Amino acid sequence: MGEPCVSSLSLSEAASREEKTARFESDRKSRGPLINAIRRAIEEKRPYYSFEFFPPKTPAGVSNLFNRIERMAMLEPMFVDVTWGVGGNSSQLTLDIASNIQQFCSVECMLHLTCTNMTEATTKQALETAKKCGIRNILALRGDPPRGLDQWEQCPGGFAHAVDLVKFIRKEYGDYFGIAVSGYPEGHVAAVSREDDIKRLREKIEAGADFVMTQLFYDVDIFFRWVDQCRAAGITCPIIPGIMPIQNFNGFKLMTSFCKTSVPGDILANLEAIQHDDARVKQYGIDLAIQTCQRLLAGGVLGLHFYTLNLERSVAHILEGLGFVSHKRTGALPWKQSLVSRRAEEDVRPIFWANRPQSYLDRTVNWDDFPNGRWGNSASPAFGELLDYHLCSIRTGTREERLQIWCRAPTSAQDIYGVFANYIDGQIKRLPWCENPIQLETVPIKECLRRMNHKGYLTINSQPRVNGAPSSDPAVGWGEPNGFVYQKAYLEFFCSPANLDKMILLLVDYPHLQFTAVNQLNMRRSNNQNTGANAVTWGVFPGKEIIQPTVVEDSTFVVWKDEAFALWLSQWKAIYESSSNSASLIQDIHDTFYLVNLVDNDYINGDIFGFFDRVMQHDGKKEEETKRRKQD
Ligand SMILES: Cc1cc2nc3c(=O)[nH]c(=O)nc-3n(C[C@H](O)[C@H](O)[C@H](O)COP(=O)(O)OP(=O)(O)OC[C@H]3O[C@@H](n4cnc5c(N)ncnc54)[C@H](O)[C@@H]3O)c2cc1C
Repeated sequence: MGEPCVSSLSLSEAASREEKTARFESDRKSRGPLINAIRRAIEEKRPYYSFEFFPPKTPAGVSNLFNRIERMAMLEPMFVDVTWGVGGNSSQLTLDIASNIQQFCSVECMLHLTCTNMTEATTKQALETAKKCGIRNILALRGDPPRGLDQWEQCPGGFAHAVDLVKFIRKEYGDYFGIAVSGYPEGHVAAVSREDDIKRLREKIEAGADFVMTQLFYDVDIFFRWVDQCRAAGITCPIIPGIMPIQNFNGFKLMTSFCKTSVPGDILANLEAIQHDDARVKQYGIDLAIQTCQRLLAGGVLGLHFYTLNLERSVAHILEGLGFVSHKRTGALPWKQSLVSRRAEEDVRPIFWANRPQSYLDRTVNWDDFPNGRWGNSASPAFGELLDYHLCSIRTGTREERLQIWCRAPTSAQDIYGVFANYIDGQIKRLPWCENPIQLETVPIKECLRRMNHKGYLTINSQPRVNGAPSSDPAVGWGEPNGFVYQKAYLEFFCSPANLDKMILLLVDYPHLQFTAVNQLNMRRSNNQNTGANAVTWGVFPGKEIIQPTVVEDSTFVVWKDEAFALWLSQWKAIYESSSNSASLIQDIHDTFYLVNLVDNDYINGDIFGFFDRVMQHDGKKEEETKRRKQD
């Protein structure tokens, strides 16, 4: 191979966590054709890897896939890619998934595109959509024959071979898109000869492709021999081997016979011996993939491409086995940055959308001004219209799933409070306002949040105070190495007017606490004179100005409030019969409750939760008093 030799052992020793994080950030920021990041990795003799996903068949599968990709993005792949349905079916879904990943998942996404059933015009349409969504990389393929057909047929007005697609992309878009093509270490099934197949591969590179991604293989010797032949034939670009970890015996047999993949005798014998024990087959697949990758790395390969089959565990274990990933890395900012290039410099966001980042990105997608790294003018926020799309995020699951997790038939407000408390306990994975399970940083304040929820302070966002934690802290850290991060304690919750009164009554003793409450009719209560931005997260880093990436401000709170209240109805009430008691209960909460944000400006000694304990004790005392009076 043209890439220099690096052993996996020296790699895991050499790359400290901080260096790796900085490199990852630098790769992540270099949006555009992937070949640039690949070349840099080669220069630095640094391994890199990527993950392939395919479009799931059901809406719930799609929803889970996004969560999975977000988690797998923490494994720091250089990019992920999404397959194009065989025969061109599900192509719209492929486009949707790829563009969502590119915009919302903080990892570069490459789109597969095939010639099957595609005319020049539909190909152009797909590329235009990809471009609009910020996608910069295409894996240009001919495609397999649609199911049921043996022979691949050119679509009238379409392309005959992948090379024609490569030429078309270069002709229409110049260098805008990075282009990868496929290569076959064992020869393509329909190739005239191995030599002719390699000649065709070279033609794709000469037509403008940047690098090659290979078909899966299990015989490493075959791969190395083929790479030597490619190099001898004048193919000098990076060649990234495709690794498919074995997940189960039957799937493995099916895949290898479909792709006509050679399987070394010892691997087959080992697998046959354990074929009825799924767990052992999976573990064998992980161990085998680690050995394969180690041999590839030792032989000079730097890039590895994993066919994940949309599964997470095996790939995570393989990367751990190779010493490529630590368990946790901290991001450049406390929230995930979008990869859409126009947003590259964005470095301030309101805290309100912390648990619904996709909605925030979508509502601000057309903003093109970013004074001080902030999107839009904060005094008159030009947030996009609140659309059904923002409310019905596919991530909140189907109606049946929501019924299962958010209580089948609540009859009292206490039932609803219990759902919020269960979310804090981790028994429920999401709420309409919180698309993901509670975060690590919430663990220390869990107990208090649980008590608050049971008492009808329905929390949807929170952060503890932090006074100078290292930027590498696994729970609250973010940003560059050797920095320090700070946070003001923050709470956001829905509560009844009576509960709000109780809180306000005690606030006089807490001058550092600043709140704004607003109901769905826009009735506002606040002790906050300053309507400008209040930074609630900031970081101090060597040789840099202070970075303040998260703010609370009145003007954006009013925008968020509309979305937050609408979610009660669109996400929660909508799962019940419209005439049911459960539906009226949710409607009542929606109509009467306030949405409150509360900031503790004393980030050194503040005790926002101690304050709430007092509020709730006060409440208890009052209840006791009322009970006693009634008894008297
Ligand atoms: C990494 C990877 C990802 C894939 N992802 C997808 C996917 O998302 N969706 C999907 O449907 N399929 C996918 N495939 C499968 C792929 O589409 C098939 O293997 C297909 O049969 C060949 O595609 P290709 O791009 O290699 O075709 P081509 O490069 O066009 O080659 C196809 C055959 O034609 C020959 N050939 C090439 N050019 C010429 C020429 N000018 N004249 C004569 N013969 C020629 C080649 O030798 C080969 O035998 C993927 C394959 C790989 C390796």
